[in-house]
Amino acid sequence: MSDYAQKVLEGLKQRNADQPEFIQAATEILTTLKPVIDRHPEYEDAGLLDRYVEPERVVLFRVPWIDDQGKVRVNRGYRVQFNSAIGPYKGGLRLHPSVNLSIIKFLGLEQVLKNSLTGLPIGGGKGGSDFDPKGKSNNEIMRFCQSFMTELFRHIGQDTDVPAGDIGVGGREIGYLYGQYKRITGLYEGVLTGKGLTWGGSLARKEATGFGLCYLVEAMLRANGQSPEGKTVVVSGSGNVAIYANQKITEMGGKVVAMSDSNGYVYDKDGIKLDVIKQIKEVERKRIREYAERVPGAVYTEGCSGIWTIPCDIALPCATQNEINEASAKTLIKNGVKAVGEGANMPSTLEATAAFQQAGVLFAPAKAANAGGVAVSALEMSQNSQRLSWTFDEVDQRLKGIMLGIFSKIDEAASEYATPGDYVSGANIAGFLKVADAMMAQGAV
Ligand code: NDP
Repeated sequence: MSDYAQKVLEGLKQRNADQPEFIQAATEILTTLKPVIDRHPEYEDAGLLDRYVEPERVVLFRVPWIDDQGKVRVNRGYRVQFNSAIGPYKGGLRLHPSVNLSIIKFLGLEQVLKNSLTGLPIGGGKGGSDFDPKGKSNNEIMRFCQSFMTELFRHIGQDTDVPAGDIGVGGREIGYLYGQYKRITGLYEGVLTGKGLTWGGSLARKEATGFGLCYLVEAMLRANGQSPEGKTVVVSGSGNVAIYANQKITEMGGKVVAMSDSNGYVYDKDGIKLDVIKQIKEVERKRIREYAERVPGAVYTEGCSGIWTIPCDIALPCATQNEINEASAKTLIKNGVKAVGEGANMPSTLEATAAFQQAGVLFAPAKAANAGGVAVSALEMSQNSQRLSWTFDEVDQRLKGIMLGIFSKIDEAASEYATPGDYVSGANIAGFLKVADAMMAQGAV
C-alpha cells in the first residue's frame, strides 16, 4: 500500500474503531488503489483520500411508530450521503435488525465506486433502519415507512438524493415511502426508484440486479474461454437479487441446484423450480423450507452457511455481507468452483476473496457485478425526468450494454494498473479514477 493510503487507513481505523464492516470495505479499496496513488502524487496535497473516506453527511434519526397493539415502538433511521462529486446521492435503504452505522457506511463507500462504474451521473449514498420487517403486519410496515419518511423527506429530492430498495425494502415499502413523501411535499417527482409501474417505475428494475450480475459473469467467463452453459450453480439468498439471478443464469444454460434464506437452504439436484420459489417468497412471504415440502426429492437443511458445501461451478452469493468466510471459500475451491459473482454487497470476507484469487477462481466483485440495480435505477430517474416509459427490451438492452461496459473497464484497469484478471483491483481503480477526477476539479469541498 502507498504511504499516503496507509496513513489514511490508519487514521480511519482510529476514528472508526467500532465500525468493522466500514474498515473492512475501506481496507480493500485503499489497498488496491496503490498504483493509482503512486501515479498521482497531487492527490495527497489535495487531501483527496482523506476526503474520499469521510461521508459528506450522516443523518441519524428517531423513527417512532405504533404497533398493532397500540404500543409505541422506536427504531433508528440512517441516511449516509457519502459522495456527490459525480451526481446526486444514490443508493438503497435497508431494513434489517443488523443495521448500524458501520454497515450503512460500508455500503455507502462501496456505492460511490459502483455508481461511478455504471458510467451514469450518480453519486453514492445509503440508508436504512434496524427495524425488523419479519413478522410485522402490513399495517405495521406501512406505519413504520410513513414515520421513516416523515423525517427523511427533508434530506432527499430528485436532484439531491434518490434512495431505492435493498434488503427488506421492495416494491411494497417503496410504495408506502413514496406515498408519504408525496403527501408531505406535494411533489410528484422521481425521488425514489423501484417504484410501481403505474406510478413512475421502470420496467426491468425488479430484475436488474440479478440479470446484470449474470450479464457480467457471462462476460467474465467468455473473456476467459468459458460460458455459463451446462454449469452447476449455487445461489444464496432467495430475495430480489437471488431470484432474478437464478432466472437469468438458467436462461443462459446454467442449472441452479440450491438457494437459501437466513434460516437454511434447499438443495434440488434436478434444478430449483423458480416458480415455486417465487410463490413462497414473493407472494406468500414464507420460509424457504416450504420448498422441500412442495417439491419431491428436494432437501432442506437448517443453517444458511452450509450452502457453500454443495459442489458447483459457479457460486452467486446474493444474500448479505460476509456470508462466505475463508473456510467456505476453501470448501468451494476444493469442490471445483470456477467462478464467483457477488450479487450481494461484500458477501466475501477479505480472507475469502484472497483465497479465491490465489486459487485462480474467476472473481467478479460486488461493486461491478451487482451494479445493474443502481444502473436501472438511474434509467428510472431519466425516464421520470423525461416523463416517458421505455419498454422492457429497451431497458434490458441498456442494462446489458452497461454491464458489458463495466466488465471492459474493470478488465482494462486490472491490466493497466494491477494484474490481468484481478477484477477486484480493476473495479476499485476504474470506479475511483472518475470520482477522483471530479473531486480534484471541484476543489477542496
Ligand atoms: P431481499 O431482502 O430481497 O433478500 C435478501 C435475502 O438474503 C433473503 O433471502 C434473506 O433471507 C437473505 N438474508 C438476509 N440477511 C441474511 C443473513 N444475515 N444471513 C443469511 N441470509 C440473509 O434483499 P435483496 O435481494 O435486495 O438484497 C440482497 C443483497 O444484494 C444485499 O447485500 C443487497 O445489499 C445487495 N444488493 C441489492 C440490490 C437490489 O437492487 N435489491 C442492488 C445491489 C446489491 P430472509 O428472508 O430469511 O431474511
